[in-house]
Amino acid sequence: MKFDHEVLIIGGGPAGLSAALSLGRMSRTALVCDDSRPRNAASSHLNNFPTRDGIHPAEWRKLVKKDLEKYNTIGFFEGSVLSVERSGSGFIARLSSDQTFHFKKVILAYGVEDKELPIRGYKELWGKSIFHCPYCHGFEVRGSKLGLIGNGDMLMYMLPLIYDLASELIVFTNGKADLKEEQINLLNKKKIPLIEDKITDFVYEGEKLKVVILENGHKVEREALYSLPSFPYKLKSQIGEELGCEKDQFGFYKVGEKGKTSVDGVYACGDNASGAHSVLLAAASGGMAAAGVVHELLSEKLLE
Ligand SMILES: Cc1cc2nc3c(=O)[nH]c(=O)nc-3n(C[C@H](O)[C@H](O)[C@H](O)COP(=O)(O)OP(=O)(O)OC[C@H]3O[C@@H](n4cnc5c(N)ncnc54)[C@H](O)[C@@H]3O)c2cc1C
Repeated sequence: MKFDHEVLIIGGGPAGLSAALSLGRMSRTALVCDDSRPRNAASSHLNNFPTRDGIHPAEWRKLVKKDLEKYNTIGFFEGSVLSVERSGSGFIARLSSDQTFHFKKVILAYGVEDKELPIRGYKELWGKSIFHCPYCHGFEVRGSKLGLIGNGDMLMYMLPLIYDLASELIVFTNGKADLKEEQINLLNKKKIPLIEDKITDFVYEGEKLKVVILENGHKVEREALYSLPSFPYKLKSQIGEELGCEKDQFGFYKVGEKGKTSVDGVYACGDNASGAHSVLLAAASGGMAAAGVVHELLSEKLLE
C-alpha cells in the first residue's frame, strides 16, 4: 500500500507542533492539519513556558513553525480533517479541501472546547478577567478580590490555590451548591462567602471585570474570576471516537505512557488526552506521542 505521509497530526497547537518537531528530527514524514481554533486564542499572554514567559500565543506558534521550517519531511495543511477511517494497514483521511490522503499512523492533538457560561460579559472577559487556571493567569492578579465559579469536588480542589492568591475570595456556585457538610464548614471557617444565586451579568471596563450582578439584583465587586469546567470535556473533534478510541470519565482519551490510545496506530496528546492543561505539558505529551509513533514505525520498518 502506498502512503502519502507516514503520520497524520490532527491539530497544530502546542501538542501537535511539538509532535511534528520530534517526527521531523527523526526524518519521519507527517502532515500537520490545523483549522485555527487554538485554545488560548482569547488570551494575549502565554505564561509559564520557560524562555517565553508572557509571549503572545500567536507569536509562540509562529516561532515553533519557524523551528519546523528546516524539517522538509513535515508538511502543513490549513483546514480541517473531516474524517479518518481505517484503510488496509493504515488510515485514509478526508480534509476540508476535499482531498484524501493515506497515512500509517494518526496523532489526535485537537484539544478541548471551553464551555461558555450563558452570562452577559462572560465571552468578552474570557482569558482577560475570567481565567481557567492560576498557573497560566494568576500572578498578574495576586492580592486582588477574586471569585471562583464552580461546584462540587472540583471547586474544593481549586479552592486552596485561589484562596492563597486572593486578598479576599468569594465562591459562586451559580445555582444550588453541591457541597458536602465538611466542605461548607471549611468555607465558613475560612470566612469564604458562598453565593448560590445565579449570575446574570459581568460588568467590565475594557478587559477588566468590575462587578458581578446576581439574579436577585445584588452587585458584588470582583477584579477577576476563575471559572471551572464541567465534566466530561467536549473535544474539538469526534474523530477519535469515530475510530473507537476509549475515553475516561473526564472525557479525555485513555492513553498509555507514550500516548497510545486503545486503537492500534492511533495516538493522542495534549489537552484531549490529559487533565493537565498547559502549553508546556501539551508540548511534552506531543513529544511523547511522537516517540511512541517513531518507535512503532521504525520497528515495523526493521521487520519489513
Ligand atoms: C484562555 C486561555 C488561556 C490560556 N493561557 C495559558 C497560558 O498562559 N499558559 C499555558 O501554559 N497554558 C495556557 N492555557 C492552556 C493552553 O492553551 C492549552 O493547554 C494548550 O493550548 C493545549 O494545547 P493542544 O495542542 O492540546 O490544544 P490546542 O491549543 O487547543 O490546539 C488544538 C488545535 O487543533 C485544531 N483542530 C481541532 N480540530 C481539528 C480538526 N478536525 N482538523 C484540523 N485541526 C483541528 C484547532 O484549530 C487547534 O488549533 C490557556 C487556556 C485558555 C483557555
